[in-house]
Amino acid sequence: MAEQAEIVRDVVVVGGGAAGLSAALTLTRARRSVTVVDAGAPRNAPAAGVHGLLALDGVDPAELLARGRAEVVGYGGEIIEGEVSDASGTAPDFVVTRRGGGRLRARRLLIATGLVDELPAVPGVREQWGRDVLHCPYCHGWEVRDHRVGVLATGPLSVHQALLFRQWTDDVRFFAHGGGVAPEDRAKFDALGIAVITGEVVELAVEGDRLRGVRLDDDRVVAVDAVVVAPRMVARVEVFAGIGIQPTEHPMGSYIAADPTGFTGVPGVWVAGNAADLSAQVSAAAADGARAGAHINADLVTEDTDRAVADRLSTEHRVEPAITGHIP
Ligand SMILES: Cc1cc2nc3c(=O)[nH]c(=O)nc-3n(C[C@H](O)[C@H](O)[C@H](O)COP(=O)(O)OP(=O)(O)OC[C@H]3O[C@@H](n4cnc5c(N)ncnc54)[C@H](O)[C@@H]3O)c2cc1C
Repeated sequence: MAEQAEIVRDVVVVGGGAAGLSAALTLTRARRSVTVVDAGAPRNAPAAGVHGLLALDGVDPAELLARGRAEVVGYGGEIIEGEVSDASGTAPDFVVTRRGGGRLRARRLLIATGLVDELPAVPGVREQWGRDVLHCPYCHGWEVRDHRVGVLATGPLSVHQALLFRQWTDDVRFFAHGGGVAPEDRAKFDALGIAVITGEVVELAVEGDRLRGVRLDDDRVVAVDAVVVAPRMVARVEVFAGIGIQPTEHPMGSYIAADPTGFTGVPGVWVAGNAADLSAQVSAAAADGARAGAHINADLVTEDTDRAVADRLSTEHRVEPAITGHIP
């Protein structure tokens, strides 16, 4: 399918991760014309494998998406590599603009742009992110079972993370990072044998690209095999301001509010995956996408049916005078 402004697709999907591709699969199998525009930076790109995904546990993240793309293309969908910089218009005529030029028109839009993990500004965290620096026990807990896990206190979620990771290992070290630990949390840590390490963390100690420990402001290095952080998770929403989509604040970041089908409240616009649900893992993001795809198709069926009924009525009205003219 050529990229031409005058072609009006049924759906443009912005973002080709698990959510966007799953929606596109549902929609192409429903014989809808679908274009996915994807900037190619899925959230879990630094990770070695996708864990907890039924029947595909441990699959390489890039391979999963390559397979998904091939399935979408196999049903006639189109994938465009690039970044959407703006969206405008209203249903059934949205215009999506790509950075560097190129416009696409669509009757419906699905936002599947994921989120940005804003990491704590501790040297070494970004470099080791997704490998030795982790956030989600369901993604990586098994891989660090019985290892020395350090939890870097960066917000209210950090205590919860320490308690969770304790399920996978009895060697959890809580780095208070200059802050305190509330007495009730201290009691829980003491009961579970979670060590509290005071002092400010100045950097992660890394040798040969592997984490060796956490360096404190008194130059001590506390040995750990993995560090857990709680990033602020911010939905990628800004390019949709022109169609009335705004972020909703959340204690852990921000997201795009929607009903359980992914409908945003803006006619013709749905959202799926991490952009709507900060806690969605790959399976949940894919399920969200499939559900949103089905609801978008149903919405298009309604519009197509209404148009068919209107066309038929206008045809009957045009014909009727001629027929009645012959009735004696
Ligand atoms: C380090 C790490 C490890 C993880 N490990 C696991 C795991 O083991 N198991 C698991 O189930 N989950 C894991 N997750 C969670 C997983 O990454 C998410 O559940 C999943 O990526 C959400 O899918 P999504 O489609 O919503 O977003 P994403 O996968 O982030 O995809 C969004 C896509 O949209 C594109 N995009 C964004 N903005 C634009 C734009 N303006 N124009 C065009 N394209 C755009 C992005 O480039 C990206 O390709 C992990 C997360 C992290 C951070």
